[in-house]
Amino acid sequence: MLRTSGIYKISCRPSGKVYVGSAVNMYRRWHSRHLPQLRRNKHSNRHLQSAWNKYGESAFTCEVIEQCDTTELISREQYWMDKFDSVGLCGFNIAKLAGSTIGVPQSEKCKQAILQAKCKCYVVRDPAGRESTITNLKRFCGTHGLTSTVMNKVAVGKAKHHRRWECRPATMSRRAWLSTVTARPVRPLKVKNGRVWCSKCQNYKAADDFNRDKQKPSGFAAYCRGCNCARLTSQYQKRRAA
Ligand SMILES: [Zn+2]
Repeated sequence: MLRTSGIYKISCRPSGKVYVGSAVNMYRRWHSRHLPQLRRNKHSNRHLQSAWNKYGESAFTCEVIEQCDTTELISREQYWMDKFDSVGLCGFNIAKLAGSTIGVPQSEKCKQAILQAKCKCYVVRDPAGRESTITNLKRFCGTHGLTSTVMNKVAVGKAKHHRRWECRPATMSRRAWLSTVTARPVRPLKVKNGRVWCSKCQNYKAADDFNRDKQKPSGFAAYCRGCNCARLTSQYQKRRAA
């Protein structure tokens, strides 16, 4: 088995049945997932487990049938599932569609665990529009010279891009993600008709209500004096309470 991403096939020689699967690391999937589970009689695929129990470990082989990029795993898995007819009488696959668990009964706990795992996966889109799925955003940012905190903001829809890279949760389509990004209200003009916007009370107030801030392009503080005062007081109280 290879430690790369791709499609693999588990075959049961006496019955001629196969199981087609995809993994980011095929070696790990076989040696850390399938094998230990089958040996402990704990495999989630009951067809595969019962054949294993019936024929024994020596009747099974696991082999790589195709190496492919992680972005193509699902489509290639589907191709091979169809090719080997691995769903139904000829095979062990339970889900009819690759990469999905449609048709597979799941416990509520299991569903939550899958959702959790998917939450940690991201789809990143490079400035040229090429997409790839990643499992560790922080590491990805490290190796691509990006700032992970900013990429996180992109992922949750608080920013449209980071150095022209896009990022969204793997559970979301690009369209769904775009709608969360564009749905954000545009920040109003800081100064309008001589009045100044306070981003705390979300209102325009007289310029006299604001402290001057030379660091800001507008020359005014983000919050009005009243809001700023309230913030400082609550921060002070929090520190005292701590
Ligand atoms: Zn205010």
